[in-house]
Amino acid sequence: MSAAGYELEAEPEQADVVVVNTCGFIDSAKEESIEAILRAVRLKAGGRARSVVVAGCLSQRYSAELEREIPEVDAFVGVGRAAELPNAIERALAGSRVIDSRPPGMSWPQNGGRIRSTPPWMAYLKVADGCDNRCSYCAIPDIRGGFRSRPPELVLAEAERMAAEGVLEVNLVGQDITRYGEDIDGWSLARLVRELAKIDGLRWIRLLYCYPTRITDELIELVAAEHKVCKYLDIPFQHGDDRMLAAMNRRGSRREYLELVRKIRDACPDAALRTSLIVGIPGEGRREFENLLSFIKEIEFDRIGAFKYSAEDGTPAAEMPDQVAQRTAGHRYDRLMQLAQKISTERNRRMLGRELDVLVESPSSGRSYREAPEVDGTVALVGGAARPGEMVRAKVVQAVVYDLVAELV
Ligand code: SF4
Repeated sequence: MSAAGYELEAEPEQADVVVVNTCGFIDSAKEESIEAILRAVRLKAGGRARSVVVAGCLSQRYSAELEREIPEVDAFVGVGRAAELPNAIERALAGSRVIDSRPPGMSWPQNGGRIRSTPPWMAYLKVADGCDNRCSYCAIPDIRGGFRSRPPELVLAEAERMAAEGVLEVNLVGQDITRYGEDIDGWSLARLVRELAKIDGLRWIRLLYCYPTRITDELIELVAAEHKVCKYLDIPFQHGDDRMLAAMNRRGSRREYLELVRKIRDACPDAALRTSLIVGIPGEGRREFENLLSFIKEIEFDRIGAFKYSAEDGTPAAEMPDQVAQRTAGHRYDRLMQLAQKISTERNRRMLGRELDVLVESPSSGRSYREAPEVDGTVALVGGAARPGEMVRAKVVQAVVYDLVAELV
């Protein structure tokens, strides 16, 4: 955008053009996005902003409805169209209404110059976009298009820039990062991670969103052996009952998932495991839910993100019989979270007395390899002051449900 002559403002109130980058994934995200659009529209009505542009997933998915319902918006652009924003803004400022309802853009911006909103010491690094998995409850493949790896030279160049700017921790993201390289000769996630580990300055490389059946032995060995790779795997298993996994169109079975976790823990006993699970998928009866609880007990996840199923427009699951009542899903969610908290507390207690590297994020707290940013707990630091952005050693002296307390050494 700066190449096109625009400057970024810190607050929408100061901008001539407000671009709302939206999410269209689940109901709560859609509501949040619409609220942000309406706030921008109010700025325009009050004479502060000259133009409002809506971009991203919600715009991709519902441009026709939004165009009708919110006529004050000047331009709608979809997914993968960042490079075309300046043109859409020019046309909107010149008085045209821009509606771009093409399928998601599949190309990658070449210059990679991104404004990061994360603290200077950590960043998310996108390695792929789109998804071909077609889980029955998920609208993402329709919104973001099919899977494609971001070319390795772009990923590595961005990581080099991040390291040069002082980023210590990169979190690899994409809808399915374990598929990385399938569409590029000679590349795989393991190879990409090995290349990233060679970059001076990067201290932690964290793998988020790994599809369970695509975690290779090579990748497990790499997590175990490469000191820059956090011994942390985020594997969204989604359920632990085979009938439900089939209904969700997830590959793999409970038995295979247990075997995978056994392999990970054999190779890397300190590995912290995070998963996401959905309760209330259509057809989930008492037995299937109890199977999910026993799966959690058997694996003893360090971290669990749980979600109540929500029927998404256009997905096969939304049309399935035996939809689970909201109230039932709510009870199941509460029971699952109680169990998750109990296990998380026990897993945290096992860290008592251990010394950890902690990436300091405030004078009194930070994160170790076991805590991913934003979704996991923190490590409270005692026994001295630490500077945000530095890596310190600290000994765990207390463990609570999600967080640890550690003393600086
Ligand atoms: S793997 Fe993730 S993004 Fe892809 S369809 Fe399944 S839930 Fe959606």
